[in-house]
Amino acid sequence: MYFEWVDYSKFSLLEKVEHSKNHRAYWEEGPLLGWNTKSNEWTRNGGQWVKLITNFCGEKYYASRFLKSEYEASKSKPSKRLVYGMTRNPVTNDYAVIERLIDRCPDCHKEWMSLRWCRGCNPKHFESERHKWTSGNSEIDDFILETQITVEFSDQALEWIPETQLTEFKLIGKGGFGTVFKAKWKE
Ligand SMILES: [Zn+2]
Repeated sequence: MYFEWVDYSKFSLLEKVEHSKNHRAYWEEGPLLGWNTKSNEWTRNGGQWVKLITNFCGEKYYASRFLKSEYEASKSKPSKRLVYGMTRNPVTNDYAVIERLIDRCPDCHKEWMSLRWCRGCNPKHFESERHKWTSGNSEIDDFILETQITVEFSDQALEWIPETQLTEFKLIGKGGFGTVFKAKWKE
């Protein structure tokens, strides 16, 4: 399992993913497969479509954290490997994570943004479950729902967590702006 730095010029046929800063691209050389002892060079799985994810890479910290978590996840499940490395657009200077182009949704046939995260179907699932929760404040409810139906990645969506989901409350701080508790989240 490895990541590599790939020069932006290696990608072609760049196509913007709608409503985002991400691109689909064709990577002619493709990801590394292994060392060829006969030709003394790396062999590659050429001719791959990939996704160049720029959305959160503006923040260096988040990009490196994302890479590390993908790295850990793919070490335990090499076949589920998604991320090949990083690149940087020389014009905008945006960093991008290079990800395998994930399968399409079996329901709406839209391309998945990440595994099982479907921007085509998510709004309808979130809206159909909207009656199951409320914060008691319609402004908060609207805001939470808006994040759920518009974000691209699952870790950007907010949820209302009822207090019954939380146990083992422990006071950890008290100050001018409020009181902070630590709690365990059952789900
Ligand atoms: Zn779908």
